[in-house]
Amino acid sequence: MTLFEKIIAREIPADIVYEDELVLAFNDINPQAPVHVLVIPKKPIPRIAEAEPDDHQVLGHLLLKAKDIAGDLGLQKNGFRLAINNGKDAGESVPHLHLHILGGRAMTWPPG
Ligand code: AMP
Repeated sequence: MTLFEKIIAREIPADIVYEDELVLAFNDINPQAPVHVLVIPKKPIPRIAEAEPDDHQVLGHLLLKAKDIAGDLGLQKNGFRLAINNGKDAGESVPHLHLHILGGRAMTWPPG
């Protein structure tokens, strides 16, 4: 069971900001911006590269909820970044798909 599956199962505590039947969102333990929330599917898809056509509903929901959560956290006006790290070169560290919502400060581009 991955770390994030343990958070879904409430075996590990997290600062949860949103939950429904398909996704869970919680504050990142090591925030890289004033707002740093992770949105994860409850289905244990390891990474976006391993998502399948049947996952289209959960993936669409993940993005739409990320947008709603960003709005609820006050990021609509100044903007926010959504990021998915896939694999070693991207710095993926937990093998359970997660969408980072980052906001509350100006971001640089390209990312490091
Ligand atoms: P990534 O590097 O894209 O795989 O992102 C994994 C993220 O999970 C990192 O930003 C970590 O800070 C975060 N993280 C690791 N453990 C926890 C935890 N127990 N609760 C909340 N966030 C976590």
